[in-house]
Amino acid sequence: MAGVGLSRLLLIGGGHSHLFVLEALATGRIKTAEAVLVSPDARQLYSGMLPGYLGGRHTLDQLTFDLAALAAAVGVRYLPGRVERIDAFTRTATLADGTTLPYDVASVGIGGVPAGHSLSGVAAHALHLKPADRALLIGPAFERAAAAAGPEPLQVAVVGAGAAGVELALAARARLDQLEASRAVITIYESSHTILRDHGTTVAERAEAVLRSRDITLRLSTRVEEVGPNHVVASGGRVAPADLILWATGTEAPPLFRASGLPSDSRGFLSVDDALAVPGCPGLFGAGDAVTLLSAPRLPHAGVHAVRQGPVLARNLAAALAGTGAYRNFRPRTESLALLNTADGRALGSWRGLALHSSTVLAVKDRIDRRFMRRFQRLARGTPQGPRP
Ligand SMILES: Cc1cc2nc3c(=O)[nH]c(=O)nc-3n(C[C@H](O)[C@H](O)[C@H](O)COP(=O)(O)OP(=O)(O)OC[C@H]3O[C@@H](n4cnc5c(N)ncnc54)[C@H](O)[C@@H]3O)c2cc1C
Repeated sequence: MAGVGLSRLLLIGGGHSHLFVLEALATGRIKTAEAVLVSPDARQLYSGMLPGYLGGRHTLDQLTFDLAALAAAVGVRYLPGRVERIDAFTRTATLADGTTLPYDVASVGIGGVPAGHSLSGVAAHALHLKPADRALLIGPAFERAAAAAGPEPLQVAVVGAGAAGVELALAARARLDQLEASRAVITIYESSHTILRDHGTTVAERAEAVLRSRDITLRLSTRVEEVGPNHVVASGGRVAPADLILWATGTEAPPLFRASGLPSDSRGFLSVDDALAVPGCPGLFGAGDAVTLLSAPRLPHAGVHAVRQGPVLARNLAAALAGTGAYRNFRPRTESLALLNTADGRALGSWRGLALHSSTVLAVKDRIDRRFMRRFQRLARGTPQGPRP
């Protein structure tokens, strides 16, 4: 619980790693005079369970939690807002409304922004996977589109064939079948020549076979350059009809770091060392999709790394606040288990080049996801489960 010690802790963003920091504050492993959490949206959604929710496997309660309630339960002041500037010299952060917050130690866990979000029409016409309030519009949009469908089949465009795009296309097929819109044409557009670029070839081939079996068309090496209310414009100016457009393009750097003149990589992600500290900026740390590890610049931006960074970040923030400097290093795993919900009662798992598609894999995925959510939902109710590595 916050309340002991002299330093002020500022948490910027309600990302995955900061959940572990909130837990460490609750259990007294982090001691601070004052802790503040700034994030625009009180409702948080666990994106790993979003395809399962859309496909009808999870309830809304299972994949969302209230960040404001969580902060209150652990004695942290929650401020709704968006940080637009960090001054590492004066150790202050400025919000969009001009409020300035001083800190002794701060951590940035603001995630990324969807790649290509500023392309013409995307903000207005595409369905977005984040933040929670926008993602939760996807289910009702399916329902409306299925109800309004005329004699022509409904056209669904999924832009991006990373894990999120593949899972969403399959979840869309499952949901539209439930809504008796089985004739819907679902097309995935992907700028690269392959799907699941960050995964092995074996899992990509298995996933392609699953997509084919669910009658989902793949347009590879095809970049969507513009979207309209009922169409997408692909590379070369080709226009294709699209009643529903799901934007699943992966992550770009948020503008905050360049705007603040903070150390960042060539794409604008915040640079951090192995202790998740920003070099040359005392007291400033970062984790999750928003950062690039200097020692592993090619590490994909994925929730699994944000989650693994959480306990290390919590420990290092405690050390910075206590002034001990006894930091632990984050060592990313070079191989991690990838689990894709294929929305047919099975999941496709990959580990070290091997791929397995079965109901047992989905049961494993469910267990991992639900355990993660229960841990922090319990914390929000004031009953922490205690640390688990
Ligand atoms: C459908 C889908 C499925 C996915 N499945 C998986 C999966 O199975 N495995 C996996 O590893 N990854 C998965 N991912 C990727 C994963 O969701 C992200 O890697 C992960 O969410 C990144 O976590 P984060 O904590 O860095 O940021 P986020 O979870 O994006 O959290 C960022 C927080 O910061 C807040 N914020 C943003 N800007 C500001 C600001 N300027 N000031 C203050 N607060 C701010 C946001 O509101 C939010 O609360 C999936 C993604 C999607 C969309």
